[in-house]
Amino acid sequence: MDKITIVVPCYNEEEVLEYFYTEIKKVMEKMQEVCFEILFVDDGSVDQTLIKLRKLAERDPRCRYLSFSRNFGKEAAIYAGLSHASGDYIGIMDADLQDPPGLLPEMYRKLCQEDWDCVATRRKDRQGEPKLKSFLSDCFYKVINKLSKIHLVSGARDYRLMTRRMVKSVLQMSEYNRFSKGIFQWVGFRTAWIEFPNQERCAGKSKWPFRKLISYSLEGITGFSVAPLSLAAVIGLVFCVISFLMIGFIAFRTLIFGDPVRGWPSMACIIFLVGGIQLFCMGILGEYLAKTYLETKHRPIYLLKESSEEDYEERSRRRKDEKNTDR
Ligand code: UDP
Ligand code: MG
Repeated sequence: MDKITIVVPCYNEEEVLEYFYTEIKKVMEKMQEVCFEILFVDDGSVDQTLIKLRKLAERDPRCRYLSFSRNFGKEAAIYAGLSHASGDYIGIMDADLQDPPGLLPEMYRKLCQEDWDCVATRRKDRQGEPKLKSFLSDCFYKVINKLSKIHLVSGARDYRLMTRRMVKSVLQMSEYNRFSKGIFQWVGFRTAWIEFPNQERCAGKSKWPFRKLISYSLEGITGFSVAPLSLAAVIGLVFCVISFLMIGFIAFRTLIFGDPVRGWPSMACIIFLVGGIQLFCMGILGEYLAKTYLETKHRPIYLLKESSEEDYEERSRRRKDEKNTDR
């Protein structure tokens, strides 16, 4: 019998866990031909998420959980989940039901019966999303697809089901600055796409404020393209050419018309412009340097505080100790 592991990153999701469990249970009952493992990853939540996960794991042995020592981010949660998953097929799903669990049977069927290694999902529309967010998101996809060699599908979700061999390859990419959407593309393998209409969050609030989305986009661009570094060089070159032309022009004009003391405002503008561009290029350089610095430290991507297995071992050890003292 095949086993499917679903990795569910959770950060302050106390309000949605019960709904999520109800929905995924329906799917598990429908798919009797496979066994399931639901692997929740508590990403350092500060609400009741962990307590709820402990209860779920006690209630249903198919539910497991990992709990981080602090918030490491969704990317770290995905990595931890994939490395602890034991299924033959491994999926990733958000806890807030924006990724409809009802698509799982179709995804599994495609993986088993057709020659795919991954079935990924994308949103058909962006209904209910702020206009500015959709616009910036579109811009991001255009820029990253121009600058990098990988091709990201606009509207792609992290919701996907993969074979174990693909997950193994994903885990080989153990970089610290993770951008899963890019990693899934980079490793290759045959990916089928399923579309679904945008779903609203079933409860709770989004954990992705605008600021976090911007840094996530920069992570994607700097993680999968070094084109901005070349851009700095190109801008530098263009400015060199312009300045040589200007030197020639000014020298020529001075020889013909003399040198009246004029033109300081334009000079000030040029100094500001060139200074700004230099700082901008240094900023790009700094961004890559910072990434390299963090990678060379080889810090762990996440730290575990607790998991259903350790908790279980702890409990059985306690029970044994109690038995021994009874004797
Ligand atoms: N999430 C996480 N760590 C974080 C932020 C989010 O594990 O630091 C999880 C969150 O619990 C949810 C999923 O990632 O299951 C997607 O987050 P959210 O719904 O807030 O993002 P959105 O759908 O608004 O992009
Ligand atoms: Mg969401």
